[in-house]
Amino acid sequence: SYRRGGYHAVKIGDQFAGGRYIAQKKLGWGQFSTVWLAYDTKDEKYVALKIQKSAAQFVQAALHEIDILSAIGDGSPSHTKFVAQLIDHFKHTGPNGNHLCMVLEFLGDSLLRLIKYTRYKGIPLKKVREICTCILIGLDYLHREHGIIHTDLKPENILLISPINPSRDPLSTGASPILERPEGSISPSPSHMEKRLKRRARRMSMSLSMGRGDSIDEYPKRNIEEIDVRCKIVDFGNACWADNQFTDLVQTRQYRAPEVILQAGYSYSIDMWSFACIAFELATGDMLFNPRAGQGFSEDEDHLALMMELLGKFPKKMATSGAKCKDFFDRFGDLKRIRRLKMCPLKKLLVERYKFSEKDANEFSEFLLPLLDLSPEKRPSAQQCLQHPWIKDIDYAPFDIINNGNSLENLNVGMRNLQIAVGK
Ligand code: ATP
Ligand code: MG
Ligand code: MG
Repeated sequence: SYRRGGYHAVKIGDQFAGGRYIAQKKLGWGQFSTVWLAYDTKDEKYVALKIQKSAAQFVQAALHEIDILSAIGDGSPSHTKFVAQLIDHFKHTGPNGNHLCMVLEFLGDSLLRLIKYTRYKGIPLKKVREICTCILIGLDYLHREHGIIHTDLKPENILLISPINPSRDPLSTGASPILERPEGSISPSPSHMEKRLKRRARRMSMSLSMGRGDSIDEYPKRNIEEIDVRCKIVDFGNACWADNQFTDLVQTRQYRAPEVILQAGYSYSIDMWSFACIAFELATGDMLFNPRAGQGFSEDEDHLALMMELLGKFPKKMATSGAKCKDFFDRFGDLKRIRRLKMCPLKKLLVERYKFSEKDANEFSEFLLPLLDLSPEKRPSAQQCLQHPWIKDIDYAPFDIINNGNSLENLNVGMRNLQIAVGK
């Protein structure tokens, strides 16, 4: 992919935007871009630099992502804290073409890394509730304040605000930023540089850097309970305005809502479906749905079968209204090619397979089941979920910030709607 139209090759110490940003190390990559930790010499802080591939369709996609990021950077200040912030953007010309670059605030590990960190055993429910609160505040903000659907919510796209392992955090190790290429071919103005280096050197002498490899196994053991789990939603490359959708096929397979599979149209509630899948995965370490194609049936059909085993039959309207329904269902609403289902309700799954206590299983499934309603219009909104006792009754600082801005009236209306949604 490092060819014309593809990724831009970056070396540590490379400069961007006329020397303002200096590449430090690679943070990650995706289908569209590579993402680098960079030092912002103007504001003297670390940032994440997302460098898009250069072919026309990637430029187009980056322009769209910048559009969305610019929109969501502009809103109620307490809520913007739960979605990634765009700091700057510019064009960078390299041997492979012109690359649009996005400068984002530097965040920590993804929820996927957090799940791996527990060796796929799941994280304590109290922490799951805190993470869910952050995601819900972010979603409520996107949905209600901006009319934006994320369409690709998954553990990789939720980042903790700081790394799980403090020794991986350039801010806490106090190591000096790299200000020039190791071989020293290009350097920023020396006076600036010297000043910063001195300051950094002082900090470094106080804290010991223990930079390690990438493997989770090498992490020093750290109790999950100690990690302040604040997180933010990132990767708005696939996000869209609810009233301006451009594609039918959205979401990553395992987090995909039934109406997307059936091509029955979609709205904000597809994010709520993905959110429920993420909450389950955090709590158990396993994906809620992980479909595979088999003999005589497709991945889509296996996915629908898994949903039915957990949640029951599709309501008639859902089994008949999508463009793809006739391919999958017979006229009784049964799957044409997967005849035998092993029913297993969520609560039973939590108790029997994941050894949840009756109480935990009850509370968690009461929270999740409305979100996994096969009829999208019945799923509660992010705003309504924020009023659910499973979320509301925790002692958690980010929740207070948001709640204080809510009038009592809003709260009561939200509560009522939720009870209707839950069917109480
Ligand atoms: P995709 O194929 O998922 O669409 P993409 O090319 O759009 O990927 P992102 O998902 O935005 O790229 O970023 C790729 C990876 O880079 C992320 O999974 C994450 O590990 C890392 N990353 C992205 N943004 C940040 C950030 N603000 N701070 C720290 N790391 C980040
Ligand atoms: Mg991504
Ligand atoms: Mg993307």
